[in-house]
This record gives sequence, C-alpha cells and structure tokens, in this order.
Amino acid sequence: MANTLVYLLDGKIYINLTNRCTNDCIFCLRKDKDDVCGQALWLDDENSTAEDVIKQFDTFEPTSEVIFCGYGEPLLKFEVLKQVAKYIKDKYPETKIRINTNGHANFANKKNVVPELKGLIDEFSVSLNAPTKEEYDELSQPKFDTAYEEVKKFIKCCSNEGICVVASVVENYKGRHIDLETCKKIASDLGAKFRVREWIPNGYS
Ligand code: SF4
Repeated sequence: MANTLVYLLDGKIYINLTNRCTNDCIFCLRKDKDDVCGQALWLDDENSTAEDVIKQFDTFEPTSEVIFCGYGEPLLKFEVLKQVAKYIKDKYPETKIRINTNGHANFANKKNVVPELKGLIDEFSVSLNAPTKEEYDELSQPKFDTAYEEVKKFIKCCSNEGICVVASVVENYKGRHIDLETCKKIASDLGAKFRVREWIPNGYS
C-alpha cells in the first residue's frame, strides 16, 4: 500500500513524515487505532524524501493552513520537513504552516533547529503535557531522561525567535486531570500561549 504522507482533515492539509517518535505517550492515538478519521497513517518505511512528500502534496487543492502532524514526531525528519516547508512557502506564501511537535527536536538533531525554521514555520504547537518531570515521564514515557527539560527549552527557543508557540496539554485522559494552572504559568513564563486539548476516545479536541 502507498505511504500516506499527505492527508486532508477538517479542510486542512496534514503532513505525516514519520512513524518514529522519542516519546511513547500513554494517550498516543497510535496505540489504539490505525488511522485518524479514516486516514491510514502507518508508513511502510521511513525512506520518503521531500520529493515524495511534495508529489503527494501537489495532488491536493491548496488550503489556508498546512500542519506537520501524523503518527510520529515530524522534526525527526528535520531536513525533509525544512525542504517541504520551503516548497510550500515559496508556492503559497499566504498559507500558514504549523508543526505539532513533542519539543525534543534540538536534542534529537543535536542543534537548535528553530532559527533554521524562521520564515518557514508560522506556529509551533509543543506538547508540554505536564507540570513536572515526574508526571511528564509517566504520561509521555520519553526515551531519554532530560526530555521534560528539553521540551521547556525548545518552547523558549521558539519564543526567543519571535515565532508563535503554543504549549499544549491533554486533559481528562481516561478521567485523569492535569494541574492546568501550573502548566499555564509554565507556558506563560516560557513566552508561549497555552492550549488544553480535551481527550476524546477518537482523538483530541
Ligand atoms: S509525542 Fe505524539 S506521536 Fe509521539 S508518542 Fe506522544 S502522542 Fe504519539
């Protein structure tokens, strides 16, 4: 079956670059489902190039917003993402581009990737997920110990670059509540907006 690298959801184009991730969140949609609203997002391989993504992208009518978000962490394919974002911005300068990310990119890529994305990415949505390292580790099950600190540092890098950044949490996962006030303050101290995503069985709000 062909890899679904690009898909349409709620009138917006989404880009699914990879199935790899440096987290293993207990609420990850990948655990329960093979698809998001009918889109099969498991890839046959991880070898897709920017050209492969662009080829699929060009089969869609342009939309006002494009979001890098799929079954994995998009910034693990940083170079591909950068090339695709540049292609979209050059072709459709008015299109808003957002990345939904776990915020581990600087650790994973061993450099601050944010300055290279300035002018290409209009908004980062970063999964803060929790008010403490302990709760983050329990919810997100990261593959390295400093993950929570990395997430906060990444958010700060985005705000330092003057790029819109939203720190998000998933609330009410199977009745579990997050300290929203503390998370909101952490987000604000890092220069980010704050968004609560209500967990629903088929995804998030
Ligand atoms: S960061 Fe996203 S893709 Fe990765 S495990 Fe968590 S919810 Fe899933």
